[in-house]
Amino acid sequence: MNAFPIETPYFTFSRIDNGVYVAIAKEGKGAWSNAGVVDLGEELLVFDSFSTPSAARELRVLAERLTGKKTRYLINSHYHGDHVFGNQVFEDIAIISTNATRELSETHHVIGELEAEQEETRQYLRELKKQMNVAQTRALQISLSNQYDEMTKVLTSLPELKIVLPSIIFEKKLTLYGSDRKVELMCWGGGHTASDTFLYLPDEKIAFMGDLATEDLHVPIYNPDRFVSILNEVMALEINTVIPGHGNISGRSLLETQKSYVSYLIGETKKALKEEIKLDDFKFHFQLFPHYQNWKGIKGVEGNLSGLYHYYNDLERCFHD
Ligand SMILES: [Zn+2]
Repeated sequence: MNAFPIETPYFTFSRIDNGVYVAIAKEGKGAWSNAGVVDLGEELLVFDSFSTPSAARELRVLAERLTGKKTRYLINSHYHGDHVFGNQVFEDIAIISTNATRELSETHHVIGELEAEQEETRQYLRELKKQMNVAQTRALQISLSNQYDEMTKVLTSLPELKIVLPSIIFEKKLTLYGSDRKVELMCWGGGHTASDTFLYLPDEKIAFMGDLATEDLHVPIYNPDRFVSILNEVMALEINTVIPGHGNISGRSLLETQKSYVSYLIGETKKALKEEIKLDDFKFHFQLFPHYQNWKGIKGVEGNLSGLYHYYNDLERCFHD
């Protein structure tokens, strides 16, 4: 018998229900995001493939050895590299995503000549180091240093990295029936990216959220209104356990926390626009609510403020033109 959790160099592997497993990424070790494994009865489904092939390989080998079953499906929650750069380990099986996620992966993840890619990544790391040296706050230092560690692992994996795109696409909902359980894949548009899929186990009341829910992290916001409405719809489902894209296993309260964060940034941005504050001034004078000051990825706040400012500014113009 295996005693859970199982520690690997990349992630901590736990069993959260009969046949439902979660891999929580260890920081800076080459996984970068969380993944899941669902035993369908005869075979396995894997949700997300980490940021490096080596972490993905570790997951597949571990899950198959543990269950004595083969993997049949890999799901890509969204196109971000920290969730799909392990795809090549699942090249022999069905990889499923929405059409938009497949297209975004195809356009964003183009690997050119190895040496040029390596140099570009090294340049990016040098830039991060410079920013780390002048970072004014502890939160920013931590944010940059985490980014640095994760990107270093991606750099190490570059010689073997190969972009493998999803082979099966769906739009809004796809149900997969195994002999033991059914799994629902849902995409209600895009909040974090243009297309975000989450996995729902209705009988077990478990949801693998991808980056639609993250723990204490300034996660990038693509479409603020849609982000909130998706979370509202998710909260209408019966869910007891939430597996975020980053952070620890949580309860449904994480969905509420995520929604509060996005709503907070929406409120602040709308206030600034109403007072006709310029974007640079808005970002410069922005005082993050104390509750969020120790969240990870503080570097992301600026990007979110800019994104939301442009989003509501453009929306405003649409109404008046
Ligand atoms: Zn993401």
